Amino acid sequence: MSADLLNPPGLSGQITASDAPAAGTPLERRAQALNEAFGAADVAARLAGAAAAAHGRLVFTTSFGLEDQVLTHFIIDAGLPVEIVTLDTDRLFPEVHALWKETEAHFGVRILPFYPRHDAVEGFVGRHGLDGFYTSREARKACCDIRKVEPLGRALAGADIWITGLRADQSAARGGVRFAEAEAARGLIKLSPLLDWSRDRTLAFAKANGVPLNPLHEKGFVSIGCQPCTRAIRPGEPERAGRWWWEEDAAKECGLHVGPDGKLTRAKPASLGAGA
Ligand code: SF4
Repeated sequence: MSADLLNPPGLSGQITASDAPAAGTPLERRAQALNEAFGAADVAARLAGAAAAAHGRLVFTTSFGLEDQVLTHFIIDAGLPVEIVTLDTDRLFPEVHALWKETEAHFGVRILPFYPRHDAVEGFVGRHGLDGFYTSREARKACCDIRKVEPLGRALAGADIWITGLRADQSAARGGVRFAEAEAARGLIKLSPLLDWSRDRTLAFAKANGVPLNPLHEKGFVSIGCQPCTRAIRPGEPERAGRWWWEEDAAKECGLHVGPDGKLTRAKPASLGAGA
């Protein structure tokens, strides 16, 4: 494997290439190299290593959830050259908008918004009604496509690395998440620096470091998305049980973290280090 493939020009190589025959696409080999170099590192080292190995823009998409707030802390604390963006679906909780402003003030950063195309929203509401996403799974997915997936595509256009707040134990569907994954459809590498953190660990870190959090977390809202599609969970329920609760499928995702075929196709990682 070529070292040039793994490390950008002008940077000392932190990722070493083995003499074994290269397998996979260049993107897959870069993701594999990142996993080998930083999969067992702590979160700060994972982010710094990825930033040093990037071939272009790094984009972090935050929805101001617990994990995203902790990642914002790490990114700002290290002064990493990461664009922090958010998708405002126009159906968010007022608490999310309040936290958005609080986060910008706390960290001294501007978070770039991406909004849905107004003509697409007008078309959806005209066909299905204001809350038409309740009427069928197809309508719900169409709404998510318009309000989330399409804006995400614009947010990530031209990016080399996409940083997310996924954790492996958030749901069975996310159990196979790896630190670095090749997203061939988007032509980038997706990073999940908190993949092996538990919710308790993430919450403890946030509180110990004064990270601003959504007050809805204290009211049982664990995974927070759009207001009409999120409810508090009951004790013992899975973390994502409050998302699209009227749908029974185990793999409840909005389309941001699924493949181009619409399926979650991750395999369990062969091994992960103790991590951060
Ligand atoms: S979560 Fe609900 S309101 Fe938000 S984009 Fe998806 S279907 Fe639409």
